[in-house]
Amino acid sequence: MSNVTASGHHAPIRPERDTFLADENPFEAMMARFDDAAQRLKLEPGLYKVLRSPEKQIIVSVPILRDNGEVEVYTGYRVLYNTARGPAKGGIRFDMGVTLDEVKALAAWMTWKCAVVNIPFGGSKGGVICDPSTMSNAELERMTRRYASAIIETLGPDSDVPAPDVNTNERMMAWIMDTYSMHKRHTVTAVVTGKPIEMGGSLGRREATGRGCMLVTREALKKMGRPLKGTRVAVQGFGNVGSISALLMEREGMTVVAVSDKEGGIYNPKGLNVPDVIQHLQARKTLKTYPNVEIITNEQLLALDCDVLVPAALENVITQENASRIKAKIICEGANGPTSAHADKILAEKGILVIPDILANAGGVTVSYFEWVQDRGGYFWDEETVNQRLEKIMVTSFQEVAAMADRHSVTMRIAAYMVAIDRVAKVHRLRGMYA
Ligand code: GLU
Repeated sequence: MSNVTASGHHAPIRPERDTFLADENPFEAMMARFDDAAQRLKLEPGLYKVLRSPEKQIIVSVPILRDNGEVEVYTGYRVLYNTARGPAKGGIRFDMGVTLDEVKALAAWMTWKCAVVNIPFGGSKGGVICDPSTMSNAELERMTRRYASAIIETLGPDSDVPAPDVNTNERMMAWIMDTYSMHKRHTVTAVVTGKPIEMGGSLGRREATGRGCMLVTREALKKMGRPLKGTRVAVQGFGNVGSISALLMEREGMTVVAVSDKEGGIYNPKGLNVPDVIQHLQARKTLKTYPNVEIITNEQLLALDCDVLVPAALENVITQENASRIKAKIICEGANGPTSAHADKILAEKGILVIPDILANAGGVTVSYFEWVQDRGGYFWDEETVNQRLEKIMVTSFQEVAAMADRHSVTMRIAAYMVAIDRVAKVHRLRGMYA
């Protein structure tokens, strides 16, 4: 059963692991690619076993007082997948669809993502099963703080550094930083990234994931010998990643023909005015009332006649059911895990260039790394420096992955896993096994 209904709305609660189709279980989707890449790298059996296992999985109850005086208990997770290359790094999501398997997969993806862009972090992820849209600001604050204190032993600038993810943002990061600092009895800015600028956040962090998507799409177009100008882009998901990707791609001369959120999308073959759409959504809280466009479903958006498709929402959006209908030449995965393993095969047969999540959306964690570095050094960079350094890392990583893909005649996804697993494995070999 799919986690997301045809219209893109969340089912109230996603099914537990046993009822996922193998193709849609995010952890198995990650493992399918891991296995493929590990075999091609001829990874030794011992390391293969180590890298298939999450280092630490924490499940916590998060009780809070609702505003009406009742007690509600939420379930939260934090998974540290691998810390061989440095402190665990990864976001926290608040969503009804959170499961332990999803958090495990996302923590593994963070491990590979940090290795693909070669920043000195391991990978982790956290989540709380909740629907933040039904909670007041005060309830959200109590839940965030209680969750942070429940996992406080793992947190720390040298051990595990959270960041925003689905339905979390700077506000929650500020509460986590404050909660941690209150426990430590002194201010520790580097415990979390994606913070407000005023309290140790980095310039450019909010835009970083979308900027990274734009940069790798630009590289992919260059590689295919296609001009930026006139390239038609469709963006599924219009949160932080989708909206900034659309905005920056438009600024590069591309034409954004469609965007959508979980309610559905809007389409204009002549191009949308992205800043205007963003303004409309902010003011009206819906895309549906946007003038002079065709209203489309999320499924229709995926099958649109366009050049670049940016899935920037949740996992399992491109599946074996709809992959054959995709007309885009390039898919830039702004979301984590938007394509199922079976869909990968169909896309490859169609000759579609997929820029995989662990490369395409790595701009966010790259600037998180810059934020952590700035916090620890107590010296802050201007936005131009942040963006220039981000560009250098994204372009180099794209080229390294593309070279691996050419060398081994594999997809960019398998090549990205190969680059990542090879880097993590090298550190394990050097460190040896503590027993
Ligand atoms: N949640 C983002 C991701 O999935 C950012 C993680 C981070 O900056 O640590 O990549």
